[in-house]
Amino acid sequence: MEKQRSVAFHTLGCKLNFSETSTLSRQLEADGFLKKEFEDRADVYVINTCSVTDNADKECRQLVRRIQRKAPESLVVITGCYAQLKPKEIADIPGVDLVLGAAEKFNIGAHLKELAKGDSARISSCDIEDVSGFNSSFSINDRTRTFLKVQDGCDYTCAFCTIPMARGKSRSDSIQNVLRNAETLAGSGVKEIVLTGVNLGDFGKGADGALKHEESFYELIQKLDEVEGIDRYRVSSIEPNLLTKDIIEFVARSKKFMPHFHIPLQSGSNEVLGLMRRRYRRELYAERVDIIKNVMPHCAIGVDVIVGFPSESDVHFRETFEFLHSLDISYLHVFTYSERDNTKALEIKPVVPIHVRHERNKILRNLSYKKMQFFTHQQKGQSRKVLFEDHVKNGMMEGYTDNYIRISTPFRKEWANQVVDWTIA
Ligand code: SF4
Repeated sequence: MEKQRSVAFHTLGCKLNFSETSTLSRQLEADGFLKKEFEDRADVYVINTCSVTDNADKECRQLVRRIQRKAPESLVVITGCYAQLKPKEIADIPGVDLVLGAAEKFNIGAHLKELAKGDSARISSCDIEDVSGFNSSFSINDRTRTFLKVQDGCDYTCAFCTIPMARGKSRSDSIQNVLRNAETLAGSGVKEIVLTGVNLGDFGKGADGALKHEESFYELIQKLDEVEGIDRYRVSSIEPNLLTKDIIEFVARSKKFMPHFHIPLQSGSNEVLGLMRRRYRRELYAERVDIIKNVMPHCAIGVDVIVGFPSESDVHFRETFEFLHSLDISYLHVFTYSERDNTKALEIKPVVPIHVRHERNKILRNLSYKKMQFFTHQQKGQSRKVLFEDHVKNGMMEGYTDNYIRISTPFRKEWANQVVDWTIA
């Protein structure tokens, strides 16, 4: 009898990558592979890379070196966004056996059947314009929360972003298939689904990117609301121009869609937003926040913001700071701009010195801390529902309120993976 082969994964980057790794792992397990931890010895190692992370190349090299030290005979496969963007660079890393681009990622099982340890790495990749089709994915870490990918790729051309080059045009799953996945997840005891995509609000473009289903994100959430067994949904991140009044009002009415939005702003200066090629101005953003807070005063709003984009002057940064300060938002995710090959932003001058980028990052992180404190203080005394995770750490368990406040309390088995009424202290 043939020996059972084992596989271990390592994921870099975003929730989408985590959900895809999870699906790749289930695919290979179904093909007969035994799943191992990355720290263990395995016959095959798969690294799912990210293009947003700084030093993707360095991280990848380090991971491959670690594998070579502990298991020099094992096969090493690199996939994900960075593998699509820089296949040759990755193939040149000593010890890499196979590089899989965006189109080939989900064919990993077939590739592994033919792969043997050799001298140089094989590359299986195509131009990103030719990538089509949609592979649905979801992660199941514990049963409490799962990330369900419903959309992939992006048709926007933001000046700082490489994601469209790494993931291709905007494509989505069909509503029917998403509902089927949600039912499967409900059947396996999952309580909360986080809807995930690259440009989630653009949901509705077919697997070839051009064809429109008679479907939209608004329709998707209305149908998901009816799936039995799922207690909660969250919308992972949605562009402000695509977050319509209809969607906001539906979330306000729904018992299952949580009062929580994550809306990228990127800059509070209209001039910088224009250079970034974003599809809105700050006035639209402020209006969306107002609509949300009018219908759901308790709603959590998270904001992505980039500091140090080329041409961002002290005046622009102050505009951003004051704009964020004035908005009724709950927390920020602050990113420091860093140069990426083949992006439009490289043509914009002047470049912001690195130390200034870091200072600005610090100032906004400080603002985020204050916003979160204030938001939590506003909720004091309110009773909110907390979904506790089935995980003990130093005798404690953790969970989130519907409006995304993190709660920590001594572990109680009967609360694990359950929704519990909780008064905010
Ligand atoms: S919307 Fe802009 S930032 Fe977001 S993935 Fe698309 S191009 Fe990148």
